[in-house]
Amino acid sequence: MSSLQVQKNSVPTTTSAIHLVSARRLIVKIGSTLIADAQIGEIRGLWLQSLIEDVVRFYKRGQQVIIVTSGAVAVGSRHFNHLDRPLRIEEKQTAAAIGQVRLMLAYAQKFKCHGFGLGQVLLTCEDIDDQHRRLNAQLTLEQLLNVGAVPIINENDATATAEICFGDNDRLAARVAEIVNADVLILLSDVDGLFTEDPHDNPEARLVKEVRCITPEIEAMAAHSPARHSSGGMVTKLMAARIAMDAGCAMVIAKGNKPYPLAAIESGGPSTWFIRSPKAGMPDTCTKLAP
Ligand code: GLU
Repeated sequence: MSSLQVQKNSVPTTTSAIHLVSARRLIVKIGSTLIADAQIGEIRGLWLQSLIEDVVRFYKRGQQVIIVTSGAVAVGSRHFNHLDRPLRIEEKQTAAAIGQVRLMLAYAQKFKCHGFGLGQVLLTCEDIDDQHRRLNAQLTLEQLLNVGAVPIINENDATATAEICFGDNDRLAARVAEIVNADVLILLSDVDGLFTEDPHDNPEARLVKEVRCITPEIEAMAAHSPARHSSGGMVTKLMAARIAMDAGCAMVIAKGNKPYPLAAIESGGPSTWFIRSPKAGMPDTCTKLAP
């Protein structure tokens, strides 16, 4: 067992552990840079294995986990390596169609080692906006969980309306959290969380540990955050937080690049939690900063 993993029956002590252990249903969103090495178009197999061990641990303690995964474009783009320019939208969509197959094969193989099956669901935000399609998606996801198949979701990149939806799995994950009544949404990213300022520019910048309401001050912090490699950066993460909090779902952002990323959050690693305050009008306690 990794030193980062939490003992099965240990009493949760960190804020993160309390939220993660008490959640009945969780959504885990995985950013492209974590799962795929875009330079060579390869899946980071050992990292994926550790993530899946984390997910299996959650299932074994009676929790349900739905995965929203990016990475299809990153894995499939090597077919366009000969182009010396950024990919056009239809080329990215083609890369996604190719990469998605390899992505799912990798998930299927690794889950199979633990005796788990899985089901692939490709969705767009527009599907969720449509009452009939949303209901179909909800029923499919419930049934997958009922039959013990881990739902793995990605954006349906080939049909996504380019300008509105393409490349926004943060928001899609929050919409999924909303329709399945998830308790916690975990955004695994390439940043530790939300900082008061860009930590690359200002060494005094501090990690915000907890946000209870999204104020203009919080929005300004997100606008200054470096986008790094993630497609949407902190601004789309904040949009996701708003959707999740409105749906009564807590959300956490954490860097997921090390093995066992969920165990790392659970054992109190750096992260930013977005948790709607139960009481309205608490301006003084809107945020908590890391010491
Ligand atoms: N659906 C895209 C992919 O699988 C990624 C979208 C995103 O990262 O937000 O590559």
